[in-house]
Amino acid sequence: MAKKKRAASSSSKMVYYFGKTRTDGDTSMKQLLGGKGANLADMTSIGLPVPAGFTITTECCDQYSKAKGKMPKGLMEDVAKVVKTLEKETGKQFGDSKDPLLVSVRSGAAVSMPGMMNTILNLGLNDESVVGLSNKTGNERFAYDAYRRLINMYGDVVMEVGHEYFEEAFDKIKKKYGVALDTDVPTQGLVELVDAYKRVYKKHTKQDFPQDPMHQLELAIEAVFKSWDSDKAISYRRIEGITGLKGTAVNVQSMVFGNMGDDSGTGVAFTRNPSTGENKFYGEFLVNAQGEDVVAGIRTPQPVKDMPKWKAPNDKTIGKKVHAELMAIKDKLEKHYKDVQDIEFTIEQGKLYMLQTRNGKRTGPAAVRIACEMVKEKLITEKTAVMRIPAGDLTQLLLPSFDPAAKKKQSPLCVGLPASPGAAFGKLAFTANEAVERSHAGEQVLLVRKETSPEDVDGMHSAAGILTSTGGMTSHAAVVARGWGKCCVAGAGAIEINEKGRKITVNGKTYTHKDVLSIDGSTGEVFAGQMATVEPKLGGDFATVMKWADKHRRLGIRTNADSPADSKRAREFGAEGIGLCRTEHMFFEGDRILAMREMILADNLEAREKALTKLLPYQRKDFEGIFKAMNGLPVTVRLLDPPLHEFLPHDKKGQADVARSLAIKPAEVERRVAQLHEANPMLGHRGCRLSITYPEILTMQVTAITEAVINCKKKKIDAQAEVMIPLVGTVQELAILRQLAQETIDNVVAAKKYGGKLDILIGTMIEIPRAALTADEVATEADFFSFGTNDLTQMTFGYSRDDVNTFLPDYIGQEVLEKDPFQSLDTSGVGQLVAMAVEKGRRTNAKIKLGICGEHGGDPASINFCHKVGLDYVSCSPFRVPIARLAAAQAALAD
Ligand code: PEP
Ligand code: MG
Repeated sequence: MAKKKRAASSSSKMVYYFGKTRTDGDTSMKQLLGGKGANLADMTSIGLPVPAGFTITTECCDQYSKAKGKMPKGLMEDVAKVVKTLEKETGKQFGDSKDPLLVSVRSGAAVSMPGMMNTILNLGLNDESVVGLSNKTGNERFAYDAYRRLINMYGDVVMEVGHEYFEEAFDKIKKKYGVALDTDVPTQGLVELVDAYKRVYKKHTKQDFPQDPMHQLELAIEAVFKSWDSDKAISYRRIEGITGLKGTAVNVQSMVFGNMGDDSGTGVAFTRNPSTGENKFYGEFLVNAQGEDVVAGIRTPQPVKDMPKWKAPNDKTIGKKVHAELMAIKDKLEKHYKDVQDIEFTIEQGKLYMLQTRNGKRTGPAAVRIACEMVKEKLITEKTAVMRIPAGDLTQLLLPSFDPAAKKKQSPLCVGLPASPGAAFGKLAFTANEAVERSHAGEQVLLVRKETSPEDVDGMHSAAGILTSTGGMTSHAAVVARGWGKCCVAGAGAIEINEKGRKITVNGKTYTHKDVLSIDGSTGEVFAGQMATVEPKLGGDFATVMKWADKHRRLGIRTNADSPADSKRAREFGAEGIGLCRTEHMFFEGDRILAMREMILADNLEAREKALTKLLPYQRKDFEGIFKAMNGLPVTVRLLDPPLHEFLPHDKKGQADVARSLAIKPAEVERRVAQLHEANPMLGHRGCRLSITYPEILTMQVTAITEAVINCKKKKIDAQAEVMIPLVGTVQELAILRQLAQETIDNVVAAKKYGGKLDILIGTMIEIPRAALTADEVATEADFFSFGTNDLTQMTFGYSRDDVNTFLPDYIGQEVLEKDPFQSLDTSGVGQLVAMAVEKGRRTNAKIKLGICGEHGGDPASINFCHKVGLDYVSCSPFRVPIARLAAAQAALAD
């Protein structure tokens, strides 16, 4: 091979050893050594049985990417040195013809990315050392099995030879020996298979399979670096919002073998149930199997709880012994890490080894239960529990589940494994691409696969739920779905999938891509058709966590709601008021839209006022309903915001219908629509600008609000209205409209002869950069500011809210932007405006109330920012209220 160019060297240490000789890393080094590397070092340090090895830093991966595929200078020299240490410790030599040192090569970033990057096992085998391995172990079959796996994995991962070519060769051998299973191929067959694999390798790479172990190692390390930038890894990071990492570390570890016979095996486990959080060791293992066999979902493994029954011909109590040892290690790990661990282990001829531990990914419900139980067990404090639950994952607890009454009426088609809880239904999609396309087209689909692989992540993410026919609770589908809180039923073996024919058969019945199935990820049941759902009950551990959160947070939590039903729901979720009641939606319902259109089409004040008079009672009734639902809590009502043309139909037929309903000429409607047309409506005649031109709109809305407050007060409902004027850019706008609003309130009070106190606040949104820049002036006319960060982001970046998706994916993909600024507040840019407006606003109006009502009010990272800059409250959609409560507490505790 041509000598590779080297990237510039870095002065820092590139390779960290772990073993009895010495251990360089520790658990604090996750960014540098990846989660896996840091924990391997740590497990070694606390005396657990970990095969020795070394970790190449994530910085090396970063250098490799930056140097466009040149290995960092000096890296392989450092690797050669550390391999010597490893040889000394294991007493084996790399490439030795008698007792060779073999290693595994695995990726491992700071954040776990299950199945996204590559693993190569048995590295170091060649034509000579395979004989050595065979002699040393007295097990020729095992030695050749290991060698053929290496050629396959190496060919596939390092040289990109399609796995199917190896499969073809394997099928021929199986045919020759008349066997169906890999495990039934005799030794001679595997010897022949190694030759066949070498031929496949040569045919596709034009090279012989490399015999020099150091050369194998170098290319394997490079393959791991490359896998960081593979499409599937990039997709996964995009979906998970993982940014800011340097790359993956590479873990090279001396091999132990789970495939040395019936006294060997391998498995993966969680120290508690990652689906429900139940404190029960939860894992699976396979006897006589190697590494990836368990997670790949090809053979369905046995639960670890059955391990004590495992007997080997040479050791009848092997299962009992290993199980007891595993349980002891589990306790030690949980005490040490004070969190649920996701472990991988291998048993080589009765001896247990730990290959990996990391904090286990878990569903939202599991996170809540585990946190509460660990507090009870005194493993963690209440504050740690609050900090640990990913606030965004609470959404999963608020999702509906299948109605038990509906389930009683229908028996399931089949039952698989309850891999990730939830209730999902959809039409069947048979490939990841199909799931993506049909979801984008607006269909709700279930992705049905025999098993999933990392290539499927986009489809899995798009689908409403995932159903697989093979694989266990730790299969790829199960692990990834749980990480996302997506409903998944795995290993539903009764389902036969015909991907090409786009149909499945279950117990004699056939379902196609047009049919809907329902899957219950909490029980594993699969039903035909769409099952009815019920809302969740929010007691128990969820309530406990909310109580803890409320104890620690400083921010108030309000909701964005514009109907009594939404207000009620948000209140049940803990909202302490409404931060944004958008009034425009109210104009679309029933007959109101006609009155609204009449108002817009009117060409004089009198006609406009006549139409507005029709709208007033509707508005008043709506407000009364909302004030009642929020009795005793503040309700911020925003005056009309969108441009008027949004209320008119833009097609000829629609315009003709409007003309007919209002008994005017179609041409009149067309003329008005044309008149209202704007090249850039988002920056046009909307928000407070409408009330400057048409003050009567403001008058009608404020009249409705004030009358509703008075009516409520008379019924002993404590209505606390706040009038919010949108899209203010200058203090003059606010001064004029505030005065008009105040006069309107006073007029209503006088007309109604109301003697009580109303205390209606008048404030504005800060959603135009100029308003933020002149907040000291604006604050003199405002009782409150509410940051409309949707528009503020739009206007600060100059990105149209409605068109941003035409380029945003490229910006995120190329890391021009770390994240979507419409989802998570751009703290360094838009945030500066917010911080400035807070400071300036308070300077001229110490009593001013400050909140946020843009989408960011429900995003944990943005809430953290809001806490830091000293807002009084955040406001978000009802379903995000619990998230906001928890995120606000996390922000306060982190402070
Ligand atoms: C905003 O701009 O942030 C806001 C809440 O208003 P809207 O999304 O209705 O424009
Ligand atoms: Mg806005």
